[in-house]
Amino acid sequence: FMLLTKKLIEVRNVLNSIDHNDTLKLPSIVVIGSQSSGKSSVLEAIVGHEFLPKGSNMVTRRPIELTLIHTPHTKEEYGEFPSLGLGKVHDFKRIQETLRDLNMAVPESECVSSKPIELRIYSPNVPDLTMIDLPGYIQITSKNQPISLKEKISELCEKYIQEPNIILAVCAADVDLANSEALRSSRKVDPLGLRTIGVITKMDLVEPERGVAILRNQDYPLHLGYIGVVCRAPGGSSKENITQAVIKTEDAHFRSSYQYSQRGVFVGTGTLRRKLMDILEENMGSNLGSIIKAVQKELDETRYQFKVEYNDQKMSAESYVAESVDKLKHRFKDFSRAFGKPQVRLEIRHMLEQRMLDICAQRYWSDPRINELPQLDSGSTAEEDRLYWDLQLDLASSALTKSGVGRQTTQRVVDILSRTMEQLAEAEPFNHHPDAANTIKTMTHEILSSRSQATADQVENTIKPFKYEVECTDSEWTEGVKRAIALVQTELEMCEDALSKIKTTVGTKKLRKAINFVIESDREEAKRAQRREAIAKLRESNPRQYLEDQARASRDSHSSESTESHGEHSQDDDTQAQEENRSVPEDEDELEAAMRPHFNPKLLVKAREALSLRDRALILKYRLSALKSKTCKNSKNKAQCPEAFLAVVAEKLAYTSVMFIQVELMNEFVFQLPRMIDSRLGVKTGQEAMEKFARENPLVGKHLELMEKRTKLEEVWEKLNYLVRRQEEAKARKW
Ligand code: GDP
Repeated sequence: FMLLTKKLIEVRNVLNSIDHNDTLKLPSIVVIGSQSSGKSSVLEAIVGHEFLPKGSNMVTRRPIELTLIHTPHTKEEYGEFPSLGLGKVHDFKRIQETLRDLNMAVPESECVSSKPIELRIYSPNVPDLTMIDLPGYIQITSKNQPISLKEKISELCEKYIQEPNIILAVCAADVDLANSEALRSSRKVDPLGLRTIGVITKMDLVEPERGVAILRNQDYPLHLGYIGVVCRAPGGSSKENITQAVIKTEDAHFRSSYQYSQRGVFVGTGTLRRKLMDILEENMGSNLGSIIKAVQKELDETRYQFKVEYNDQKMSAESYVAESVDKLKHRFKDFSRAFGKPQVRLEIRHMLEQRMLDICAQRYWSDPRINELPQLDSGSTAEEDRLYWDLQLDLASSALTKSGVGRQTTQRVVDILSRTMEQLAEAEPFNHHPDAANTIKTMTHEILSSRSQATADQVENTIKPFKYEVECTDSEWTEGVKRAIALVQTELEMCEDALSKIKTTVGTKKLRKAINFVIESDREEAKRAQRREAIAKLRESNPRQYLEDQARASRDSHSSESTESHGEHSQDDDTQAQEENRSVPEDEDELEAAMRPHFNPKLLVKAREALSLRDRALILKYRLSALKSKTCKNSKNKAQCPEAFLAVVAEKLAYTSVMFIQVELMNEFVFQLPRMIDSRLGVKTGQEAMEKFARENPLVGKHLELMEKRTKLEEVWEKLNYLVRRQEEAKARKW
């Protein structure tokens, strides 16, 4: 009937994984004992392998939840740490090392942690048991152990030895039982000793008479009794199973003294194993009724919650991943449909037209000779002028065609694609999944950077002819003129907008005053510059005259100073001195500065800005009428209509660039990205990755958790029902 224990151990593990508030508890055997009482040796004798970390300083800092699973039909022996995902560990030395690492990971300041380490051992040589190994009680606190350590260990043990667990109190035969911390603790929670079993280790260290006296203990009677063992590890190869060796040693020891064969005296690891199995089974069996009730209640509640919160809607990590990936692919598809060749062309043309406007502004609109441009055609213009404007047009056209069109147009599309993917990566549901969002960005970057250089080179190559000559048909010209008019018109509107914005912020009157002042002071400045120039010329052509003038000026100023000091200077002298001073530039600057401060410097900046906007608007209006004039209807007059010609060039560049960008970059991107999304984010990434992904979204995580809980409880419910049926059948057979 060992099946019951086995099944209930399975049930216990399932319940442990879903129950965080200890309402669903099946009993386990909790092992307590003082340090060096032989606790580890007993556990290893039962398991058949050395696997517990040993050392002089305290090594067990966390409870070890040990599940032994009897596997009768195989020779394979191995351990498993379910929460670490290491898989099967066949080498028990490695289990030992892993346990040590897990223990050592508990920070020194915490001393002990109540978070258990789960370990399962599968072997044909172990009984079906669940045991919890706890840190050993310590007597004296050593120098580098904090004072509270002793209390912390006691607290931890006390938590575990509560009902319905069975207590395995380990005491060494050579230590007085009155001093046993394990027995003392167990009596607090189980005064009648109904669920405590005493294990007396190191029976080889005491005389048989004394040994038997301990085992028949009358001072501390335990309902489940005491068992004496000799569990010193025999040494030798760690690969071999030590249980049989221990039992052999024990047999030899206990057979040698007749006292141990008396009735009611229990000795040996074999006896201990059987007894533990019996006790566990009995306890689990008697707990069956209450655990069924608890599971039923929990299951009802979970089902109800699932219905209320999720309307019984199923959810799995896989379906969530598939849904998220589909969403992403759909959105990308929508985007790529909306961002087709015509839209790309529009983008690129817009970019080139902006460049073209900059070139016009720089090469034409700020050219002081711009007003002569329309008269170019009158026939009277000199050959020299004609050449000048032809050259201007050539330079402007090259500035456009040689501005790195390949790189820039490609980069523009790359930027748009990157930005779009970034937005998709940051939108629901990927806002919950930073790693996946990064993957989306990485994929985008990978595809684009693998294509962009080649694309840029291709584009640059295909636009090469335009760098030498741009021909255009009449209809192209007409279109170019239309676009140029629209562009200049927009530019003009922007200009006027900016101007009126300044007007409203500053105030029309105030602005006008400031503008007048700026104009006035510019005019003054120009005059001064002229005068300075004249002086410079004079200095060069007639140095003597210049020196004489200087000398006279300084003499006069000195004399005026001295008059002043005598206090007899007249109004006339003063005026004269000032008049003289005016011819000295430095002094004049000072005077000028003294007159200025009525205007706030920021206001003057605004005034200058307004002034240049006004000039620009004037030129733009002028250009607009030129472009609309009869002259610009004819493509032969392109030198007079540079805006229209450059608009034609921009259109040609855009058209050609886009053909190659479409083939080399866009098509590749639209083809590759969905495939990459599938392989790097989709269901192919494996169950573990999908679980991790799904749980990053807290809402989905909760949903999944509840689903999982329901599934597990249903599974447990099935198992329990099966066991109850078996028990009834067995009872019926007995009757
Ligand atoms: P723990 O600290 O309670 O886990 O104790 P250990 O199992 O590490 O044992 C402490 C020491 O007692 C070790 O040196 C063991 O070899 C020794 N020991 C354990 N069991 C026996 C035994 O039955 N007889 C003898 N003589 N020594 C034992």
